[in-house]
Amino acid sequence: MSQHGGACNLSLTQQATVCHTILREVFGYPEFRGPQQAIIEHVAGGGDALVLMPTGGGKSLCYQIPALARQRAGQGVTIVISPLIALMHDQVGALAEAGVSAAFLNSSLSGEEAALVEKRLLRGDITLLYAAPERVTTPRFLAQLDALFERGGLALFAIDEAHCVSQWGHDFRPEYRALTVLHERFGTVPRIALTATADTLTRADIIERLQLQAARLFVSSFDRPNIRYTIVEKKDTTQQLMRFITQEHNGDAGIVYCQSRRRVEEVAQLLCDEGIDALPYHAGLDGRVRQANQDRFLRSEGIVMVATIAFGMGIDKPDVRFVAHLDMPKNIEGYYQETGRAGRDGAAADAWMCYGLQDVVNQRRMIDESPAGEEFKQGLRGKLDALLGLAEATDCRRVRLLAYFGEASQPCGNCDNCLQPPDVWDGTDAARKLLSTVYRVQQMGGISYGAGHIMDILRGKVTDKVTQRGHERLSTFGIGAELTEVQLRGVLRQLIAIGAVAVDAEAFNTLQLTDASRAVLKGEVAVRLRQSVSTPGQRKAKRGAAAAPPPATLDADGQSRYLALKAWRAEVAREHNLPAYVIFHDATLLAIAELAPHSLDELQGVSGIGAKKLEAYGQEVLRVVVAA
Ligand code: ADP
Ligand code: ZN
Repeated sequence: MSQHGGACNLSLTQQATVCHTILREVFGYPEFRGPQQAIIEHVAGGGDALVLMPTGGGKSLCYQIPALARQRAGQGVTIVISPLIALMHDQVGALAEAGVSAAFLNSSLSGEEAALVEKRLLRGDITLLYAAPERVTTPRFLAQLDALFERGGLALFAIDEAHCVSQWGHDFRPEYRALTVLHERFGTVPRIALTATADTLTRADIIERLQLQAARLFVSSFDRPNIRYTIVEKKDTTQQLMRFITQEHNGDAGIVYCQSRRRVEEVAQLLCDEGIDALPYHAGLDGRVRQANQDRFLRSEGIVMVATIAFGMGIDKPDVRFVAHLDMPKNIEGYYQETGRAGRDGAAADAWMCYGLQDVVNQRRMIDESPAGEEFKQGLRGKLDALLGLAEATDCRRVRLLAYFGEASQPCGNCDNCLQPPDVWDGTDAARKLLSTVYRVQQMGGISYGAGHIMDILRGKVTDKVTQRGHERLSTFGIGAELTEVQLRGVLRQLIAIGAVAVDAEAFNTLQLTDASRAVLKGEVAVRLRQSVSTPGQRKAKRGAAAAPPPATLDADGQSRYLALKAWRAEVAREHNLPAYVIFHDATLLAIAELAPHSLDELQGVSGIGAKKLEAYGQEVLRVVVAA
């Protein structure tokens, strides 16, 4: 009966056909990806949905296609709630390129511009309207929605980045809480909420906060097969990063995450000194500089963004070829979200992390020192342990990652441990020696010491501190002389990771035994460690020009077509003030260069070319291809 709820007059098969036609004609993609089809048909038919899909999984189409389908069926406008004001312009621009009428309303618009958008909205001229949550819940905007609603002109609400509603998510936005008004006021208008944050706590919270109890839940596989996971031990961190970038990602766009603002500045400068095109991004930078850096990252090719985790949400740049972590994130959710920003286009990409003893100590300390309640801290510790387990793993990283999200899988063949199984050594004996040294030292003087001193005693080094304290008389002095410092650090890291050693932040980072130490001391727990490898180096170094070279799969003519197409695309993107990938993805240019089409008909079949783009750019593309 309601014009909002039902599948209008279309049968389910007709609905499915409409959605598939939109996918092909508007977006130029031949097939749906993963669960997109089920989601899109459900929502286009008026159902509510909560969609959990990894970054790069293709969430946008899950509301954009229903928006188009419902608009064509006369059901009006879709309101997209997004916290990412800085990106709305590009999102709307990308839709315009595909021939979809879209607009945004946020604080960046002048009063006049906003009034113009509102006029178009009430005229029914807009298919998708992007708005920030604080805007949606103003009385003025709600009154406009009322007017639309009364004449059946509200097709759908899409709530993007839905985890922002939850305190458990990592980007809590209090304004999201007020969005319940949509459901209360416009109960018959379907809603789709989307997020890439998967853990059960956040998920339950989203359902409750947004009152989505009756919504259908769509959970995708969280696997990102094109991302290669590598975790290396910290030695000379910035040198390691430099080698990683110059040898494997010369000229590629990438993101380097660091924990502190100061470190961000340092690393960005260092990379620049080495001739790498790097920019800093953190919350301490002036808003305009931040925006300018983000724009350059999106619009130019091959920029490396060095950033704190303040950077990245909603960045849908598809050709980020690597994400590097110089410091360990707090938990696997964060790690996965951040690494997920690599390789959205499905082409090979790297997630590379450098990790060391200090990371473990720092993260533990941050939890210990936080003012939160003990139960909450326990939860944080559990999450950190899972990440430490991943970092120390000697088996497939992906199997562990997916297991964390509740998915069973087989060794992947595309992570460091699969590609180059680490040598494993039995560190049980070394662990026992280390723990008994901590024990004896404490027994002797009633106080504890830090890692450096304990390792000196174990390795039998006669330092001033050792002789002053009389520690050379300990029975454990020198019993680990055969062990290297690197090995001992590995042992210690693992012991901290499994909770068999605690680091007391209140007392100069001294090492303390814990309840879990006993089992290790008794030899009941085996400690198996990865042998430290010097450099992975399993891939051939890329050499040559600073710009990413054209793919080697193309023959010489194909390569010159590819380069010509890229130059043409850069020109168009500049004219339209949009990032290049909004015009065409690299993969689309590659396919064109390979095909060398002579007619619009030939061009039409290429993935990523919808009707509007064919019409707008088809002739020019053919011209560029012929001239190259
Ligand atoms: P998410 O929001 O889930 O991170 P996006 O919606 O940005 O992901 O999609 C990631 C990329 O995949 C985009 O560049 C998009 O154009 C592309 N994409 C989405 N669906 C398809 C599809 N069915 N076929 C081909 N490419 C797709
Ligand atoms: Zn693997």
